[in-house]
Amino acid sequence: MDEDSDYTLPCPHCKKEIFDDVEQCPYCHQYLLSSDFKKPLPKWAIVLVALTILSFLLPTIVAVIRSLSSQ
Ligand SMILES: [Zn+2]
Repeated sequence: MDEDSDYTLPCPHCKKEIFDDVEQCPYCHQYLLSSDFKKPLPKWAIVLVALTILSFLLPTIVAVIRSLSSQ
């Protein structure tokens, strides 16, 4: 019984055995910061991205609503 795909490691927070590829510990619900690219974005970055997307989408949405309501 030696399955590499089921590799586990101890949680750095609660020390229970958890799967290597999980982002969040299922026992203590702490996020595992083993890899930098999975680090959650800071809130200001999320707001900035959301505002940028909105500023692109808003004219389109307004145009669609106007074309729908004018019919
Ligand atoms: Zn844990």
